[in-house]
Amino acid sequence: MFGLSCDWNLEVPERYFTMENYAGGVARWCPACGDHTVLSAVQRICRDEQIPPERIVAVSGIGCSSRFPHYLHAYGFHGLHGRALPVACGVKARRPELQVWVATGDGDCCSIGAGHWLHAVRYNMDMTVMLFDNNIYGLTKKQTSPTTPIGLSTNTHPGGAFLPPLDPVQTTLGMTNVSFVARTVDWNPLHLYATLRRAYEHKGLSFVHILQRCPTYTPDVFARLQQNPDKVLVLTHEDGVPVDPAVARAFPTQRPHDPRDLAQARALGSTSADEVAIGLLYVDPTAPCYDQWTAQGVEMTPEARLAAVDRALERFAI
Ligand code: SF4
Ligand code: MG
Repeated sequence: MFGLSCDWNLEVPERYFTMENYAGGVARWCPACGDHTVLSAVQRICRDEQIPPERIVAVSGIGCSSRFPHYLHAYGFHGLHGRALPVACGVKARRPELQVWVATGDGDCCSIGAGHWLHAVRYNMDMTVMLFDNNIYGLTKKQTSPTTPIGLSTNTHPGGAFLPPLDPVQTTLGMTNVSFVARTVDWNPLHLYATLRRAYEHKGLSFVHILQRCPTYTPDVFARLQQNPDKVLVLTHEDGVPVDPAVARAFPTQRPHDPRDLAQARALGSTSADEVAIGLLYVDPTAPCYDQWTAQGVEMTPEARLAAVDRALERFAI
């Protein structure tokens, strides 16, 4: 028709995703906020793994970092205070094929969300949990968070925070059925990327503690580490986070660590020690994953589901 030739055997070219395909709204975090680097690392992983945007879900609670889903072009759920993890578990329970990224902060996860944190780690569903730890409630303007160091003046404790800070890594390492715990820093994009990619590859809940700069409210909390890179202890192991030569140059102090050694991971996990360890602290690929159970029956038709319920009820027939 009209002289056009239609070759119906043409194959549809495969989709190739670029960084632009994962770019959501313009990020409104402060200039030099570490959140920008984390977003960029996740977008790069999605690009490098060629994950279709429609197969990604970013879930968050409340806080500066919890604006993450708005800036990643994918499905997103900006949840309630501390509720990122139960939402993420719900997504994973019914749509196990989706890639789930959770963005949560030290206030969101370690305070109001702490109960959910405990159980999500135990459920060990396949997702990557990024704890953006800037040692402060940033969105609500400099209130003491569970990880605020003693003595830091905040709006809720002008004379300085009173209590010893909670350590997210050591706390997670004490939870039942923990399967992956790593730490990285936002000011080294190569190590950040490698850590998040290793976490993405792990099957189970990957908990990544990210030391995140907040130049607006806690500009000095990581100054000791930034000014003394030898105080950052890079963990090395063939199963760990790969160490790029540029990372090794930036952080000259390295230490072999078998990530299956839980006792050693606990000893290395503290952020209050003189040297702060980054890399893979702990992994247990054999830990049971609850989503393998909840996924059963997801594909059943309503009729098959009804028949299964009938069969179950028949066992109680008198
Ligand atoms: Fe980032 Fe801090 Fe600004 Fe929040 S207040 S966007 S954490 S720099
Ligand atoms: Mg915070």
